Amino acid sequence: MSHRLIPHIQKELEEIRAAGLYKAERIIDSHQGVEIRLADGRTVLNFCANNYLGLASHPRVIQAAHEALDRWGYGMASVRFICGTQSVHKALEKAIADFLHTDDSILYAAAFDANGGVFEPFFGPEDAIISDSLNHASLIDGIRLTKAQRFVYKHADMEDLARRLQEASKARFRVIVTDGVFSMDGDYAPLPEIIQLARQYDALVIVDDSHATGFVGQTGRGTPEKFGLLGAPELIITGTLGKALGGAMGGFVAGPAPLIEYLRQRSRPYLFSNSLSPVIAGTALSIFHWLSETTELRDRLEENTRYFRQGLSKLGFTIKGDDHPIVPIMLYDAVLANRFADALLEEGIYVIGFSYPVVPKGEARIRVQLCAAHTREHLDKALSAFEKVGRRLGVVTPTF
Ligand SMILES: *Cc1c(COP(=O)(O)O)cnc(C)c1O
Repeated sequence: MSHRLIPHIQKELEEIRAAGLYKAERIIDSHQGVEIRLADGRTVLNFCANNYLGLASHPRVIQAAHEALDRWGYGMASVRFICGTQSVHKALEKAIADFLHTDDSILYAAAFDANGGVFEPFFGPEDAIISDSLNHASLIDGIRLTKAQRFVYKHADMEDLARRLQEASKARFRVIVTDGVFSMDGDYAPLPEIIQLARQYDALVIVDDSHATGFVGQTGRGTPEKFGLLGAPELIITGTLGKALGGAMGGFVAGPAPLIEYLRQRSRPYLFSNSLSPVIAGTALSIFHWLSETTELRDRLEENTRYFRQGLSKLGFTIKGDDHPIVPIMLYDAVLANRFADALLEEGIYVIGFSYPVVPKGEARIRVQLCAAHTREHLDKALSAFEKVGRRLGVVTPTF
């Protein structure tokens, strides 16, 4: 006889399925990239990876990974402070800090861990954490691990943020927390206004730039660069190596040297979890060197984004955001969004429909993510598929 938890969970699973919220995993049988082979044999164009710069399987990155494997080995089998720190980890931390114009940085196994470990060491019951309502789950969890006072401001609403800062004026320390780019809408945090309020109310600012580091801003330094705020003294930046920067895994916190030094002493996911694989550390290091030499990849991504957004707008689709490679195509209806995504897959275009609870009710959409490795042919093929399916499903009207 199985424990009664088992049937209880089976029933929960049935309810998830019945509600149409079950997340099935599509199996890929090739490298990650813009052209992928699915396990059922179909080859499709991928428009839903976080592989913004096309580095996940770039030949140069694979070569760097082979070299890192040979030079540094596979694993460390240790946390950093026992015997898990190689010179490649220190070099990568320095490269990240230099790239982001901060004093220092600290590596984690993932951005989820970076966000899980960046609050609790600094903030206690005397302090106030003021968070955007649409912040990533990992920031929310990291904040939950503290005993700090918590305030949530309406998404990107600076009047509401000012009110929360006012309410928190008695706290010892205040910190404003935001995603740099919000993944469902492809919109930016209003960083200049946030920094201005932070200065007015003597607050720190933590920006999770996971959907920005490597490609947002003229040289890919992220949202602070886009807004002319690189090196702002109140900024702490968290981010991932699991998206634009090769897409393997790993995360980091970058900021003022004493804060980073203190995280090495007190941050639990850093102290009690294994050191990042040297293969990833060495490969990420070579990626940061590459991105510091040339803006070629982020420039191509920017051009692809402009072309694709213009193409969709001309076809009559309603899209959100203005220049980020996350392109949300609004369909509003959950069933329609799923049918649209299925029909696109039949046309060889792999995208995903998002609906409640991932986005608000009545705001179902398809989210396209562009990549530097998409060619003009890839983009044209996707635009034709959107046009064909959009007409068939009555989302856009034919224009003759
Ligand atoms: C993807 C993402 C994360 C998680 O990154 P991992 O390195 O995969 O853990 C954290 N924050 C934001 C904003 C993200 O988009």
